[in-house]
Amino acid sequence: MLNASLRQLSRLLSDKKISSTELTAGFLSRIKSLNPDLNAFITLDEEKSLNQAKSADAMIAAGQSTPLTGIPIAQKDIFCAKGWLTTCGSRMLSNFISPYDATVVERFDQAGMVNLGKTNMDEFAMGSSNETSYYGPVKNPWDRLAVPGGSSGGSACAVAARLAPAATGSDTGGSIRQPAALCGISGIKPTYGLVSRYGMIAFASSLDQGGPMAKSAEDLALLLNAMVGFDERDSTSLQREKEDYTKNLTQPVEGLRIGLPKEFFAEGMSSDVSRAVEAALAEYRKLGATFVEISLPNSKLAVPVYYVLAPAEASSNLSRFDGVRYGYRAAQYSNLEDLYARTRAEGFGEEVKRRILIGTYVLSHGYYDAYYLQAQKLRRLIAEDFAKAFEQCDLIMGPTTPTVAFNIGEKCGDPIQMYLSDIYTSAASLAGLPGMSIPVGFGDKNRPTGLHIIGNYFREAQMLNVAHRYQLATNWHELAPPDSGN
Ligand code: GLN
Repeated sequence: MLNASLRQLSRLLSDKKISSTELTAGFLSRIKSLNPDLNAFITLDEEKSLNQAKSADAMIAAGQSTPLTGIPIAQKDIFCAKGWLTTCGSRMLSNFISPYDATVVERFDQAGMVNLGKTNMDEFAMGSSNETSYYGPVKNPWDRLAVPGGSSGGSACAVAARLAPAATGSDTGGSIRQPAALCGISGIKPTYGLVSRYGMIAFASSLDQGGPMAKSAEDLALLLNAMVGFDERDSTSLQREKEDYTKNLTQPVEGLRIGLPKEFFAEGMSSDVSRAVEAALAEYRKLGATFVEISLPNSKLAVPVYYVLAPAEASSNLSRFDGVRYGYRAAQYSNLEDLYARTRAEGFGEEVKRRILIGTYVLSHGYYDAYYLQAQKLRRLIAEDFAKAFEQCDLIMGPTTPTVAFNIGEKCGDPIQMYLSDIYTSAASLAGLPGMSIPVGFGDKNRPTGLHIIGNYFREAQMLNVAHRYQLATNWHELAPPDSGN
């Protein structure tokens, strides 16, 4: 049951071999026993989850089910869920019970999915290791000394440890793909604007994008079917005809042109990750794909550009947390100004404060032209590199991360090292392109590693098809950490 695909779970539910109540209770009891050590969840609410499961069972009994009805899903704590504590991993929101649902939460609700709980994450999604969370680090279920990646570390851990069959994540510069890679699961960040950001707490609005995390590409396709769609409450939401992402999953990949950016295969990638990625590419060759060398000359600037633009937007977005309307408020203050200052000094963690300072700096008079505007120009050049590359190839592949998961505590003291975790993922984010990671084996210390697939705009169906074909031929996506499966 723990290793079942969403389709298998759906069949069991519709055949009444198991009820959603039983399934949900099963996962909740597993969470109870493993979460105290793994720390993947910030909030659990058994009663709420079981009530939702009961409604799902009623939907099934009435013959009104969708392919996802009755299946539990863990929600990253960046998504507002009505009546649930929604902290975004921060002390600032440690008392915030959301009065409304994010569109993503609402859509899964309507599909009959069960909210299993809210997962741990880096504070305001700023981080690559889940160590900036006010609620403490999450452990990687493959090796509990290691980080699970971030910022969607709790979601990645929950899926990998089989505490949940699926989870939501958000990705600003790599936060779905990097933890998916480090935890040996699959995750996709759709084209910017495809999934509504309404109710997803804002970090860097021109980059933020929600997406699903699960064991396989097939599961992701099912989840994406429910997640994607126009939302008038999000001004950057795209209006497009609805697609069925499961329709072409099994199409052969013969003749597929895979672009290999020479910059991604140069120095930086460790040899164990390189070995796993090369083996995955060899599998694609067997499946009939062809390879073209491409160049993304400006991608080397993606991390510095990201670390100007994301903090700039964050400094603006986070100005709303002032202790007045909701969230944390300092206990003692002498006047209004002091209330703001103390609330923000006490409510935000170190990394968030660092980003606010950087963001305020690059937006201030005299520095705006030198940093922010330059970064915007480079962002355009990075996007143009991709446009040129997609004239020569259908998809781009490379490593998701430069190394396998590092140890908890190893990079905390060195922000630059931490920022480099997103060296392969942030370029696609800046261009607004869809990107995904699928597990392709293990590197040093038997820690998982991932293959990064970047598609052209709105090519999610093609990416999922290509990933699914690989998963039909291999079984990395079926493997679970030692005490987490079977
Ligand atoms: N690791 C990157 C950061 O710290 C990306 C985070 C994200 O995608 N939310 O900003």
